[in-house]
Amino acid sequence: MAQLSERMRALVQPHLADIEPYDPNFTPTRINLSANENTYPLPAPVHDAVVSALAATPLNRYPDPMSDELRGELAAWHGVAPEQVCVGNGGDELLYNFLLAFGGAGRTLVTCPPDFSEYAFFASLAQTDVVRVWRDADTMRVDAASLVEAAQQAHMVILTSPNNPTGDVLERDLIARVCAACPGLVMVDEAYGEFADAGTTAEPLLACHDNLVVLHTLSKAFGSAGIRCGYVLAAPDIIEVFAAIRQIYSVNVLTQAAAVAAVRSRAVFEPVVETIRAERERMAAALGSIPGVRVWPSQGNFLLVRMAEASRVRARLRDEYSILVRDFSYAPGLADCLRITVGTPEENNAVLHALEQLVAYGSLGKETR
Ligand code: PMP
Repeated sequence: MAQLSERMRALVQPHLADIEPYDPNFTPTRINLSANENTYPLPAPVHDAVVSALAATPLNRYPDPMSDELRGELAAWHGVAPEQVCVGNGGDELLYNFLLAFGGAGRTLVTCPPDFSEYAFFASLAQTDVVRVWRDADTMRVDAASLVEAAQQAHMVILTSPNNPTGDVLERDLIARVCAACPGLVMVDEAYGEFADAGTTAEPLLACHDNLVVLHTLSKAFGSAGIRCGYVLAAPDIIEVFAAIRQIYSVNVLTQAAAVAAVRSRAVFEPVVETIRAERERMAAALGSIPGVRVWPSQGNFLLVRMAEASRVRARLRDEYSILVRDFSYAPGLADCLRITVGTPEENNAVLHALEQLVAYGSLGKETR
């Protein structure tokens, strides 16, 4: 495990001494299904709209701090007031700012792991205690009673729906119960919300729970991970805190221009999302029929799978087939698990073909080269 140098361990703030230098564990491959990106090419009308918007954007001026044009588009789309929207440099910035504003020493964040590892990381940066309501080891589902009980003492709760990496969505009723129980704020991270069945978003609860924050990103369904754009929807006084704590120019002019164009073209993404959803079901069935492979049902653009020697399978997929998937086998609760992003039909077929060779035909023990 990577560590800071002794010199840096002595110099950084004491609570950061055990921080690990970032290791993206990234190898260039022919097929990259490791980061839950949308691997489909940007639809031509969106591409054209983005290119024109970028070309028309002056670079000599600072960005509009609150991304007001984009904010207006997002507000109209989601049926909320612009004062209920804050845009960030990716969902990650908003998660970090959430912890920075509402966390801190002596405060608690409730999470339901296995979930997105950045929650615990940002909590540690903000010296916030994490209370973990572990998912069922077999079904990966959240125990509603334990979650509601933990929420009663929490300054913050982060729920993920669909959850990364387990893929399940949380019932809206349960989210409402958590909002009612929690004296602090409840964030529902819907980074993968567009891939889920209609009617699963927590957004309708914004009208009756003023401690709810819903997080979205353009990195997934909108195929725009590279521009770094996320946003939160919440009550205006919560948004004021996000606005106050952020670095004022964190969302640059090119991101704002591209995001406005992408959001205005949102209908064009619908067929892509439908294809990914259909491919997800096809992949889940096909992977599940490989002997020894367990697949959890997913509402995201990825599948969590378990198989013997998962780390080795991942390394061989990378080295022999030039396919990159995410290894979670080191993570608590995810022994022998890999997470595979749902890609294009060709990419998915390549994964299936490779896994059938590696797992089904028992070639795992034999090195092919
Ligand atoms: N939430 C979840 C659950 C995620 O998986 C991710 C990205 N992997 C994010 C938030 C943040 O996405 P981004 O910073 O690209 O908007």
